[in-house]
Amino acid sequence: MPFKTIIEPFKIKSVEPIYMSTEKERGAFLKKAFYNPFQLRSEQVIIDFLTDSGTSAMSARQWAGIMMGDESYAGSESWHKMEKAIQELTGFKNVLPTHQGRAAERILYSHLGGKGKVFFSNTHFDTTRANIEFSGAEAIDIPIPESKDPELIHPFKGNMDTTLLEVLIKKYDPKNVGAVILTVTNNSGGGQPVSMANTKMISSICKKYGVTFIIDCCRIAENSYFVQHRESGYENTSYRDIAHEMFSLADGAVMSAKKDALVNMGGFFAVKDSGLAEACRSLLIITEGFSTYGGLSGRDMEAIAIGLEEVFDPDYLKYRIRSTEYLGEKLHKMGVPIMLPVGGHAVYINSRALYPHIPLDEYPGQALVCELYLKGGIRCAEVGSVMFGKYDEKHKLIPAPMDLVRLAIPRRVYTQSHIEYVIEVFEKILKDRSKIKGYSITYEPEFLRHFTAHFEPLKSKTPVQK
Ligand SMILES: *Cc1c(COP(=O)(O)O)cnc(C)c1O
Repeated sequence: MPFKTIIEPFKIKSVEPIYMSTEKERGAFLKKAFYNPFQLRSEQVIIDFLTDSGTSAMSARQWAGIMMGDESYAGSESWHKMEKAIQELTGFKNVLPTHQGRAAERILYSHLGGKGKVFFSNTHFDTTRANIEFSGAEAIDIPIPESKDPELIHPFKGNMDTTLLEVLIKKYDPKNVGAVILTVTNNSGGGQPVSMANTKMISSICKKYGVTFIIDCCRIAENSYFVQHRESGYENTSYRDIAHEMFSLADGAVMSAKKDALVNMGGFFAVKDSGLAEACRSLLIITEGFSTYGGLSGRDMEAIAIGLEEVFDPDYLKYRIRSTEYLGEKLHKMGVPIMLPVGGHAVYINSRALYPHIPLDEYPGQALVCELYLKGGIRCAEVGSVMFGKYDEKHKLIPAPMDLVRLAIPRRVYTQSHIEYVIEVFEKILKDRSKIKGYSITYEPEFLRHFTAHFEPLKSKTPVQK
């Protein structure tokens, strides 16, 4: 019988101290940060769940690889290792290295996009949408309807609505479609997996209409875990082979290596079509760097090549997915409204359900983000109307479909007792839920406002005189 406790399948060789701030100190830190945790200093944070991006702990093998990094300007050995690792994993011949995911997106989508073009996705990640819209094109999200019900159990809630995809391709005319982008796992929609069956269906629709099909593969290993455990026919297929099969259905892939490549910086895109690669390569050289390093140093490329191998280790993936699920299960049992089932890299809290008394234009998600920081020094991100809200002509908020708060778990960084602490903080959050007030925005930029917006806590409304 295997033991029920799933331990971290690694030992710790190097540690980073955490400053244990007091609640009073955190109140001052948060005020100074304009109530936007993106503006906090990291030493002011106890548990950092802001993102799983670039926050992974590298392995001893990766650190050894750092020393092996070949810093040659052209034809670096480390580049050849990274290129080979990506070609073997994805099956795509043409690999273009970039300093991170959004640089790959900017190059590829500014080439495929532009005015009059439209992109469809299960959900465009925020930088994906921003790059597409910045090119003048339109980005339309078409997740399956089940994804909009935060408590509905569905094994592949990250799937794309393929019926709608075909209707929309015909409506917009295939020649105006920049690309269909499948985000695996679906980050903004809850870290939910995408099935192989759904990917096959998308692939055949794209082939039928001659539309480019791109996989945003930031969390491809985590997605493969779910396919093996939830989709019939894949029980005995290795995680790597599942990923390989998924790539074989697409024309290309974009990756932020800061996720499942287990590194702190890096990205790439890889495409089947040499003509497309050639067209993008010029833009790569103008803005990122020569085609054998993009925006990366040799040591980064070395660590990516190793990380892409380590991430498919079955013991690692089991620990990774199960520990995220453990946090979600505990919160759910306590009565915290969370997105179900729990996704691969994050637990999403439904802040609208937690704080039903806070109007949507007073941002219940931001209220929870601030509370978690004040009470426990936990930093996390709002994924709701702050991130995706728009305004109508009268500057009235058009809220996002959901107001979620994301607790994103860095890879190989926190232990079980850190997670137990977070669970305890939530007991306090639940106790105080009815007292919590909303926030107003006092400053915001035009694009990606959640990174730099300023907020102000709202005072209690004066009771109406009878
Ligand atoms: C992180 C991420 C990106 C952007 O990558 P960066 O490395 O942050 O620029 C794109 N798509 C998805 C799904 C992501 O999670």
